[in-house]
This record gives sequence, structure tokens and C-alpha cells, in this order.
Amino acid sequence: MVTTTRISAIEKVFVKTGQILSTRAWNGGNMHELHLHLPDVDFDTWKKTQSIKCRISSLHYTDYTPAMWDATEKTCTLYIDTSHAGKGSEWAKRQRREAVFYYLNIEEESHLPEWGRRHIFFGDRTAIGHFCAIQQLASSEINIDGCVVFNDITTANGLAENCPWLQVKCVTDYQRLYDHAEQVAIQIKDDQENNVFYVVGNAQLIMSVRKLLKTHGIDGSRIKSKGFWK
Ligand SMILES: Cc1cc2nc3c(=O)[nH]c(=O)nc-3n(C[C@H](O)[C@H](O)[C@H](O)COP(=O)(O)OP(=O)(O)OC[C@H]3O[C@@H](n4cnc5c(N)ncnc54)[C@H](O)[C@@H]3O)c2cc1C
Repeated sequence: MVTTTRISAIEKVFVKTGQILSTRAWNGGNMHELHLHLPDVDFDTWKKTQSIKCRISSLHYTDYTPAMWDATEKTCTLYIDTSHAGKGSEWAKRQRREAVFYYLNIEEESHLPEWGRRHIFFGDRTAIGHFCAIQQLASSEINIDGCVVFNDITTANGLAENCPWLQVKCVTDYQRLYDHAEQVAIQIKDDQENNVFYVVGNAQLIMSVRKLLKTHGIDGSRIKSKGFWK
């Protein structure tokens, strides 16, 4: 087993461990997949989306969303956006197969699928794991729609290849996502009881999409949102 970080005796008291099974950068670009083995996690208890506090450096933990879990093998995948200069990005890019993976805990988030409704996802690339998790929790075929905004075309092109189950539109500018949200809102306004929106990612996107949906008559109870970064 390769260990890539040193960990103090104090941190060892509360930190949990797993292993990096493999890593992948979509088209060699800015979306890093980390495949993890987490032997101590009981994935069968997950009824809502989760977040995991990953140890990035000494006493520094960053939230990511476990997705595509296999409860028997005790594995899952993180989809980490590395397009910005941040410690989390640098950490994700450095990870290699067989490295020890440290995390503080896994917390339950608030989103869960709604049976029988169409799920409409609007978000940025940090929300990919979250949307995959909602699909997995639905455990049966759900009707989905929506749009994910990326900030480069290379990574955007990787969505269909790497997450073919996530049938959403990919765009590289926010205006196109807002246009799509507007179109969908107009189409489903009179049938909104049969739809649920999940709006996830950066604060500006959430504020703009919520406002736009409401302007077009979508009730706030049909919109679930979660801010990931500012
Ligand atoms: C519950 C939860 C689940 C999350 N799940 C995921 C996930 O599955 N995948 C994922 O990629 N992110 C996810 N995030 C977002 C992630 O935790 C943040 O983006 C975090 O700030 C990244 O840490 P960092 O050390 O790389 O950058 P930081 O040091 O926190 O930030 C450095 C600078 O970059 C900006 N910044 C932060 N993130 C981004 C970004 N993505 N794009 C552009 N600028 C940015 C900050 O505003 C700051 O100016 C999640 C957040 C939460 C709260």
C-alpha cells in the first residue's frame, strides 16, 4: 500500500481510512474521478445523498460527494472538479492507485429522489456526483432532464462517455443553462406536481436558476437546492 501523506498521532485518533483503488481524469482534463474502497462504511443505510470530508492536508478537510457506490464491495466514486486553484484540486490531482485515503466522516445531506416524478437537474460540474447519487438512490428507472455547466469543452465532452446514465445537456456557458432552465419551466409549469428540480453547485448559479424558475411560475416546493461553493 502506498502512503502519500504523513499523519500526526493526534489526527490518527479521529480520522478514518480507506484506499484509493484507481483514479482517472476525463479526457486528461479537469474532472478527476477517484475510486475508493471504504471498508468501514455501511452503504446500505444510505437513503439520501451524502458528503464525505476528505483529508486534503494536516487538519484540512474538504467536502465531496460519494457516488456510484457498491454496498457489497464497499466502493464508491468521487467526481472532483480540479479546474480552479485550490488545495482540494491539488490533492485530487496528486492521488494515485493504492494510496491510503483519509476522511473525517460521512454526513447525510438533504436530497433524496421523489418517486414517480421527473427529476430535473441543474448544476455545475461539482454537482455531478450529487446527481449520480440521486439517480442511484431512485433504484429504478427515473425520468431525468436538465443541464450541467462546465468551464471547458474537453471536460464537458467527457460527461457522456464517463457518466452515460446521466442524460443531461452539457454546456460551457451559464447563459445556455439559464435558457434551458427557462424553456423547461415554461414547458412544465402546468404539470409541475409531476416534476422536481434539483439545483446544485455554486451560489450564483443557484440564486439565478431559482429566481428564473420562480419567475416562470414554478413553486418553491418543487425546487430543491444545495450550495457547494461561492
Ligand atoms: C456537501 C458538499 C458536497 C460537495 N461535493 C463536491 C463534489 O462531489 N465534487 C466537487 O468537485 N466539489 C464538491 N463540493 C465543492 C467543494 O467542496 C468546494 O468546491 C471546495 O471549495 C473545493 O476546495 P478547494 O480546496 O479545491 O478550493 P478552496 O480553497 O475552497 O477555494 C479556492 C478558491 O476557488 C474557488 N472555488 C472553490 N471551488 C471551486 C470550483 N469548483 N470552481 C471554481 N472555483 C472554485 C473558491 O471560491 C476560492 O476562491 C461539495 C461541497 C459541499 C458543501
